[in-house]
Amino acid sequence: MNFYTEPARNLPVEGEFDVIVAGSGPAGASAAITAGRLGAKVLLIEWNNSVGGMSTSGLMSHWTGSVNSPIYTEILRRCAGYCEGEEHGKTVPWIDPEILKTVWLEMLRDAGVTVLLCTFVCGVIKEGGRVAGVITESKSGRKVFLSKITVDGTGDGDVAAFAGVGYSKGRETDGKMQPATLMFKVAGVDLDRAVLLGSFESKHWTEKGEL
Ligand SMILES: Cc1cc2nc3c(=O)[nH]c(=O)nc-3n(C[C@H](O)[C@H](O)[C@H](O)COP(=O)(O)OP(=O)(O)OC[C@H]3O[C@@H](n4cnc5c(N)ncnc54)[C@H](O)[C@@H]3O)c2cc1C
Repeated sequence: MNFYTEPARNLPVEGEFDVIVAGSGPAGASAAITAGRLGAKVLLIEWNNSVGGMSTSGLMSHWTGSVNSPIYTEILRRCAGYCEGEEHGKTVPWIDPEILKTVWLEMLRDAGVTVLLCTFVCGVIKEGGRVAGVITESKSGRKVFLSKITVDGTGDGDVAAFAGVGYSKGRETDGKMQPATLMFKVAGVDLDRAVLLGSFESKHWTEKGEL
């Protein structure tokens, strides 16, 4: 393989923060909100053009798992009235991605977090064994942001990998990974005639969740 040696260049140091969080999914956004509420000067850097990660851009339909945390409870409260449906005779929280984006943004704003969208964390600044900041790429070019603490909320461990942390991918035995799910929305469906076999919205489920 041939290689090209990129010329060295000076990068502008755009800012210094107590905490920099890379990635604005549920993990990163919650970390940024919590740090901001504790009084830290926080920068949240997100590659996408909106916050929320998979919970919004991935069209997640509903929250799963046995989550019970103050931030999760607050999200449900802030979304209440907008994102609820009926399932098996009970009112359950569903996710409207656009509402949830707004809720995440309001919580970040109220916590005093600076949000940088459409910006990719593509490297780290290291001081000894410590990550002391990140390098970003965006339409505005390549920049440096310094931090006392850097949180990796990229979902893929990008910051850790850029910092030289070892990693493995997939199942240890054969490298295989969980199959991907494609979430999508369909409009204009005649719900009275549609048969939504086994879907989350299906009215054909029994109380046990079986068809
Ligand atoms: C298709 C799909 C459907 C799902 N459905 C559900 C569901 O219905 N209910 C449920 O509870 N869970 C669901 N999950 C699981 C849930 O989405 C994840 O557990 C959750 O989103 C993980 O949160 P996270 O913050 O760790 O990562 P993510 O949500 O993946 O967020 C990571 C964020 O980091 C950003 N990012 C990545 N790399 C960089 C970088 N280098 N620089 C800057 N930003 C970066 C990404 O753009 C993204 O916004 C689903 C997952 C998928 C993939």
